[in-house]
This record gives sequence, C-alpha cells and structure tokens, in this order.
Amino acid sequence: MEDIIKKEVVVAKFGGSSLSDTCQFNKVREIVLADSRRRYIIPSAPGKRDVSDFKITDILYLCHEHVQKGVPFDEVYKIIIGRYLQLCEELNITFDMLGSLTDLKEKIISGASVDYVASRGEYLNGLILAEYLGVEFIDAAEIIIFKKSGQLDEEATYKAVSNRLSKVEKAVIPGFYGATLKGEIKTFSRGGSDITGAIIAKSVQAMVYENWTDVSGFLMADPRIVENPKHIEEITYKELRELSYMGANVFHEEAIFPVKKDGIPINIKNTNKPLDEGTYIVDDKSIVKVGDITGISGKKDFTVISIEKTLMKREKGFHRRILSILESNDVSFEHIPSGLDSVSLIIDDSQLGDKLEKILEEIERQCSPDSLIVYPNMALVAVVGKGMIRTKGISGKVFGALAKADINIRMINQGSNELSIIVGVENEDFENAIRAIYSAFKSKVK
Ligand code: ASP
Repeated sequence: MEDIIKKEVVVAKFGGSSLSDTCQFNKVREIVLADSRRRYIIPSAPGKRDVSDFKITDILYLCHEHVQKGVPFDEVYKIIIGRYLQLCEELNITFDMLGSLTDLKEKIISGASVDYVASRGEYLNGLILAEYLGVEFIDAAEIIIFKKSGQLDEEATYKAVSNRLSKVEKAVIPGFYGATLKGEIKTFSRGGSDITGAIIAKSVQAMVYENWTDVSGFLMADPRIVENPKHIEEITYKELRELSYMGANVFHEEAIFPVKKDGIPINIKNTNKPLDEGTYIVDDKSIVKVGDITGISGKKDFTVISIEKTLMKREKGFHRRILSILESNDVSFEHIPSGLDSVSLIIDDSQLGDKLEKILEEIERQCSPDSLIVYPNMALVAVVGKGMIRTKGISGKVFGALAKADINIRMINQGSNELSIIVGVENEDFENAIRAIYSAFKSKVK
C-alpha cells in the first residue's frame, strides 16, 4: 500500500527563475498540468528575468536593512510592487495584491523581523500561483514548524505536513519559511525553498521530488571554467553532497537530508526545456558505477597554517590543543593533513575573517612549535566519484593531469570512503587545474 501511494505523488519545486514573469508562470502551469501526479507545488519568490534584474528576496532583505538604518525604502519597495502587480494583471489574478503589499510595507516600517520580511516573497508568489493553477494555497507557516532557536522541528513538521496534506488533492505551499508554534516566521538559509520541497516530498512519501530550475541538471564541471562540460545523468546523494559543498550549487546542500533517508529520488529539471531528462539524484544502492569520476568542483580562498614540531606525535594532547584554539575562536577547519612532525590546518578564509593573528599567537603560546608558517591563497579542487573505490589509477590520472599542466599540488586528501580526492593548488591555478583534470577524464565519462 505504501508503495502504491509512493508511486502516485510527485512534489515539484519551482525556483525563482522559473517564476520570474508571466511567460515563466505559463511554462510552470503547463508542466504541472502535464502530469496529474504533480500534486504539491512549492514556489520560490520571483527571481531575475535577466542578468541585470533583481531577485524579490534580495529586495525584501534590502527593505528591511533600510528600516534598520532609518533610511526610507519607498523607491526600493516600488520594485516589489511593480513586479507583483504586473504578474497579477497579466495572469488575471483577482485577489487584492495591492492591499497585501500595502500591509506588508506597514509591517516592514513597524519593524517586522528580517525572516518575516524575507519570507513574503514566497508567500505572495504562492498566493498568485495557487490562484493561477486553481488549487488550494497552504501557508507554510501552518505546517513547517521551527523551534524557537530557528532550527527545524523535524518530527513535528513531518507529522503536521502529512496530516494536513492527507486529504488535499493538490496544493501550492510556498518554500523557504515556516513558523514556530507561537507563529513567529522563520526562514531557512538562502535558497531554502529546496529544503521545503524535500520536507514535503518526505512527508508525503513522494515517488520523486522534482526540482525545477533553469538548467537541465548537473554538469561534470562548472561551464564558466570548462567549455561544454558533460551532463550528469545520475548522481548519488553522497556524491552530490561533496560536489555541492565544494561549490556546485544548483541545489541546496541541506535539501538532500530529508529525502535521502527514505530513498526518494530528486530529479533536477529545466523549466525552459521540460523534455530534457535532467539529473537524477538517487541513493547508493540504485546505481552501480564502475570506473571514472562523476564530477569536479572546487572553491578558492583557503589559508593553510602549517605547524611543525619535532616529535609532536609523542606529545599527548598536541592536536587537541590546536583544535581547541580553533574552537575558542569559533573557526572550523576543512582539512587537517598531517606528516610525521607536522600538521596543517586548512581553513576557509570566510571562516577565518580577521582572526588569523590571534590564532597564530595562541598556537605559538600553547604549542611552542618549531615553525609556524601561513600560506594564503589556496584553492581546493574535489574530484568526486562513487566508482573510484573500485577503480585503479584514478588518483594517478588526477596527479598526472596536474603535472602535465605544470600545476603544483600543495595538499592531497582522500577520505576513507574514497568518494573524492581533494587537491590543494594555488588560487591562480584553480581554473587550469579543473580544466586539466576534466580533459584527462572526459573521454571515458559515461
Ligand atoms: N527566495 C529565497 C532565496 O532567494 C529562497 C529560494 O529561492 O529558495 O534565497
């Protein structure tokens, strides 16, 4: 019975670019109508219509910021009014959008919370989409339940969603936010409508969670770096997690968790090319991969703190002291490769902020190293692939490609799950490193 239910429900989340104007709304309606199993629809706020345009969410944050600084925001707010009124007019929406926008402006002026203000982009877009599709609107504040701390209350949420939806044939549920039991609106982090979609998919045990965006899924490498990279048809949750963490950001990395446990596949689809297969994100058991790599991603701007001390391994608590220094400075690290008498801390610059001097001084004081050297401007490149574990020579090929491109490798890390090989290179070698690795593998990639 469970399985039958699973096979009849599709949850479809549409991102901001899929709902940026009337033409996009039309495409969304066609997609929804094309398959009656698409029963629960999760919209983002309207996104950019072109590169020079604004995302409604960004403007909402800006309005809130203006109020905090005591600066009038009428001009900025006009952009929001213009976008929503145009949508309502062109789509023949009958509800009083101007009234809602006037109320919202009042609330922003009287100091509404930043989460409340930001969430209205999805809320208002949800109202429009529900009327346009002729389906029920369910306010996410009723069913996506947050704890006072701002964290999702998973158990309460799954229960509330499945109860509420059990008798609802079709509904639009805005993404990105929910509320505490006291009714205080809370949002997920940016891009969080993906998480709402995943929560709904899990709660109703959907057969698939479709995530509609403006690209036909994942590519093996960033197309701004590699020309025409190959498309990834299928990827496991874990591989995707590694790729997203390292910078491939089509999908919110936290949105994997709700569906992963129940093995609900995620299908990244393109609203502008709905017939493209997209990329399927599935669980480990569903694909048997041999050979090659799935994708390459990476990030720039890491700092390496290299610590040397003879016989450090014999000094009990040496590493603990180093890690406590990071902890007390509220800094987390990416990797800690170590040698016989050395250990390096690889830290994302955004974590480090202006704390480097203080951290160095504390390491000096508490660990008395023989040498303490800082190497800034490092980039990390991750070569990800589930098939690696059973294939010989992958790392040889990665290192060979980098050597041939005359790129110096500064760090190597391969996790014990053999899902990825991570290499550290100079920031300035980053793009070349990705291109070199990609071309070494592209001929064999399936
Ligand atoms: N509108 C929100 C943002 O821009 C959430 C989302 O689109 O997923 O971050």
